[in-house]
Amino acid sequence: MKTVSFPRMVELDTVTGLPPRKILDHDLPVLLRSMGMAGLPMCSIMIDIDHFKKFNDKHGHDTGDMVLYHVSSLIRKAVRFRGEAYRYGGEEITVLMLNTNGAEGLATAERICSVVENSEVTAAVDGINQPLSVRISLGVASTDTVAGSELLVSSDRALYNAKSSGRNQAILFRSDRRQAVTTTIIDVHFPSRSAITGGNYILLKKWFSRSDPTDIEAREIKDPNTDSSEFAEGHMPPYGLVEAEIRGRVSEIERRGNHTHFKFEVKSYIIDLMFKYIQDTRNAYN
Ligand code: GH3
Ligand code: MG
Ligand code: MG
Repeated sequence: MKTVSFPRMVELDTVTGLPPRKILDHDLPVLLRSMGMAGLPMCSIMIDIDHFKKFNDKHGHDTGDMVLYHVSSLIRKAVRFRGEAYRYGGEEITVLMLNTNGAEGLATAERICSVVENSEVTAAVDGINQPLSVRISLGVASTDTVAGSELLVSSDRALYNAKSSGRNQAILFRSDRRQAVTTTIIDVHFPSRSAITGGNYILLKKWFSRSDPTDIEAREIKDPNTDSSEFAEGHMPPYGLVEAEIRGRVSEIERRGNHTHFKFEVKSYIIDLMFKYIQDTRNAYN
């Protein structure tokens, strides 16, 4: 097997000492492709520091920065043989691990969780060093159970579950969760002739979002079974390009002239997470 290494560009984030978000955005598709071609799974771990605001509020921004650096260093050290840790944004860190399935990713995440919990950090209070209680929550997903395009959102979803069910823990994303999965139906307008057919699962690779989240115009569709892509020409919508990937099922196709309209059925939480992702991307770049 050809050796796969993390594509490296320098410029580490100054607060965390980690590669920044733009490197994550660059590395992820490259690594997904390499692992996919090698037939190996890869895993994403989304990490968020618990009640991080309290460090800023109680001890000041510099202590917050110090805690962030401390946690980031422990994480990077814990995954260095198999992966890389990136600053996703704010006090959130994303780990990508090569050749790692969900169970292995969860084991690593649990190890990171306890390494952080058992680490010693202090802050000066009235000139006396006092221990700080630093905890993190982690969400894990791996391509052995989720599509590559849903890797980040799935680990983010698991992180959300880790937060809402008590924090200071790691949770593995399970696509077969017993809770009901609701579906959102999006009206898609594909502004040129398209060969898509109903019942297919497709990937909307680049899409536009205006103020209304249901107003999405497909720019490129990809059939995951054939790996073929279709491109379409159309107007640039006023709110610009959103680069994201979303997978769903096509139904109710209607062709009018060159245009194709269809309904696109997507799991509702994917929509929620996609919008969080878009929001985070804007925050990270603005
Ligand atoms: P939760 O357990 O739900 O994650 O609570 P939280 O307080 O960690 O979450 P919240 O998102 O409310 O607060 C995150 C804070 O992190 C808000 C923001 O001001 C702070 N923050 C983001 N980036 C930095 C940074 O680089 N340095 C410092 N010191 N603070 C930062
Ligand atoms: Mg946060
Ligand atoms: Mg937090």
